[in-house]
Amino acid sequence: MQTRSRGRHVDLSDRPVPANGTVTTAAVADATCSACTSGRLLEDRVKSALWDGDRLVVVEDIPALLCSACGEQFFEDRTALALDLMRGGGFPPGEAERQMTVQVFRYRNPEPDREGA
Ligand SMILES: [Zn+2]
Repeated sequence: MQTRSRGRHVDLSDRPVPANGTVTTAAVADATCSACTSGRLLEDRVKSALWDGDRLVVVEDIPALLCSACGEQFFEDRTALALDLMRGGGFPPGEAERQMTVQVFRYRNPEPDREGA
């Protein structure tokens, strides 16, 4: 049997890990938020919406650390790695827990250019 091809390109515009937000396991015990420097990080489960090409998928029940003050989310390295592996797998539809519908809005400029001046 052939193994599934690897290295499939997945274009995701919504990376769940903040640029400076990766927290190591050692820092978790009594960590303060590096975004606002005042909040405490509390373990929680979050969901994240990710783009897989034109397809929007939602991953839920992700272990994360949430800032009690500003709400910033942080993922531990191993969690970010696991999400990368899920991404690399291309989110096979057969493995989805359930389906949900999402509402789509078109961008609207609140200050449109003046017409016919
Ligand atoms: Zn914070």
